[in-house]
Amino acid sequence: MKRGLLVLLCVCAVVASGYAQKGKKKGAGENAAGEYLDRSFGVYDRLQKQIWSTPELGFLEVKSSGFLQEHLRESGFTVEAGLAGMPTAFTATYGAGSPVIGILAEFDALPGLSQDTVPYQKAVTEGGNGHACGHNVFGTGSVAGAVAIRQWLEASGHAGTIKVFGTPAEEGGGGKVYMVREGLFAGVDVVLDWHPATGNGVSVGSGTAVQMIDYTFRGVAAHAAGSPDKGRSALDGVEAFNYMVNLLREHVPISSRIHYVITNGGEAPNVVPDYAKVSYYIRSPKREVLSDLVDWVGQAAEGAARGTRTSVSSEVIAGFYEKLHNKKLAETVQRQLEIVGGVRYDERERAFAEAIVKGLNNDLSTLKDVETVQPLADERPSTGGGSSDVGDVSWNVPTVSFGTAVFVPGSAGHSWQNAAAGGSTIGTKGLMNAARVFALTAIELYTNPKIVSEAKAEFEERRGKNFKYVPLLGDREPALDYRVKLY
Ligand SMILES: [Zn+2]
Ligand SMILES: [Zn+2]
Repeated sequence: MKRGLLVLLCVCAVVASGYAQKGKKKGAGENAAGEYLDRSFGVYDRLQKQIWSTPELGFLEVKSSGFLQEHLRESGFTVEAGLAGMPTAFTATYGAGSPVIGILAEFDALPGLSQDTVPYQKAVTEGGNGHACGHNVFGTGSVAGAVAIRQWLEASGHAGTIKVFGTPAEEGGGGKVYMVREGLFAGVDVVLDWHPATGNGVSVGSGTAVQMIDYTFRGVAAHAAGSPDKGRSALDGVEAFNYMVNLLREHVPISSRIHYVITNGGEAPNVVPDYAKVSYYIRSPKREVLSDLVDWVGQAAEGAARGTRTSVSSEVIAGFYEKLHNKKLAETVQRQLEIVGGVRYDERERAFAEAIVKGLNNDLSTLKDVETVQPLADERPSTGGGSSDVGDVSWNVPTVSFGTAVFVPGSAGHSWQNAAAGGSTIGTKGLMNAARVFALTAIELYTNPKIVSEAKAEFEERRGKNFKYVPLLGDREPALDYRVKLY
């Protein structure tokens, strides 16, 4: 991939990445949003660091979600919390009439990625959680943008609604999918999304659709030395299954991704395991291909169970659509991103960033990426990559995703470097840029309804006449304990 055009690999995914302090648009009340952000750096610096210091895993983000809800409530939004079966999901609404603009806000952390705000690896808590995907910054930037938009709506007296979607458990839990399935996005005209990145740009990639499936094998326990003939090993089932999948992967479309971890392989070598479990992520840029892959992998599981005289059952833990692009919205956000510009480090931030770059054995010239805005890339077919629950949103509401420079260029997704930068003022500068892009984009959409209608027409055309939304996670309830079980 091109340097600086970042594609984040969460299960999440997304984005390329920009902003700065220049270029406020003039016009009826428009300065209200920019001026609000100009004077609110300290507010959002504290808020993002509060979440960064309280890293909570998917569906367990009680405090993190609470911090964002509290600030929105204090800022005049109507907050509804505990939605679609998820205690930490919320919506926060301000304004009246159309268009209704939705903004996505994530706030979950990752296990085992605790990291201090220093340019070398040092955990705050050894083995603890950390914001290595920058969702502390993500949630805070989205909220800052929404509150700035509220300032403009109030100052201009313009019709329009802004709605923040607090979406839990992006890292594998798929909170957005349940919110979509519940119909919470009904009536929303456009969704604006962003993700912390190593540069500044608008995302044009579709990523991959994914199904996350747990396969559980059951056998018969026996003394592994005394009476192995009486046993049937569930672990044998898992191993035979994985072997078959590793053979079939040569014969699937090259953009497919199949990966697994054995989450339970038995307890002791001298006991034939009667229970074993393997977790798979199966991905393809196209849902139709994914469906075939999932069938094939399922047949391998059944074959493995037969051959080892065990039994197998499967559970879809989560599933996301690939992302549906919207060119009209991408062009609209690109214009605002270019007005906002990139991030400018001060001396202290530069020294921090340079230490990270040197630690990665990269050239210091890579730091230019944080100051510049990537040109809008051409759309091209996805060749693989990560997945995000934004995908399901994008097939239900015209959606656009962008990124700003929160992380130091060259840093990998889900790395300690990201947790370090995201928790510093570098992270705050990136999120304030994102907030400005949100505000300028919303003002553009509120004052130019033609853009909204064209984005919608494009959305309908891309989706196709016969499109019917069927969630890839079926009718299951949110896996509220998916992090509790694993960690
Ligand atoms: Zn992630
Ligand atoms: Zn992420």
